[in-house]
Amino acid sequence: VTNDPRVVRCGTHGKRIAAVVCGHLVEAQDRIVGFVENVSDPMNLQAWCEDCERVFLAEGGMTPAFLEFNRMSIVCNTCYVTYRARHSR
Ligand SMILES: [Zn+2]
Ligand SMILES: [Zn+2]
Repeated sequence: VTNDPRVVRCGTHGKRIAAVVCGHLVEAQDRIVGFVENVSDPMNLQAWCEDCERVFLAEGGMTPAFLEFNRMSIVCNTCYVTYRARHSR
């Protein structure tokens, strides 16, 4: 099932379940940007930061402007838990 879209090969953790986060959660190493989870299904993990939530609400949905701001990235579910721990207030 290597082409299962829910599976990702993480450089750190190997083959894992895929999760989706914004670019800010990945890049912010030394500050907390907030962690807004959009789903609770462990097979479909998605989250973005508080700035993305503000833009999402202002735009009223996943508009091109939102997607450009969000810079969605696919990470593994273990990295996702790391980002949640780092960025949760
Ligand atoms: Zn963000
Ligand atoms: Zn990982």
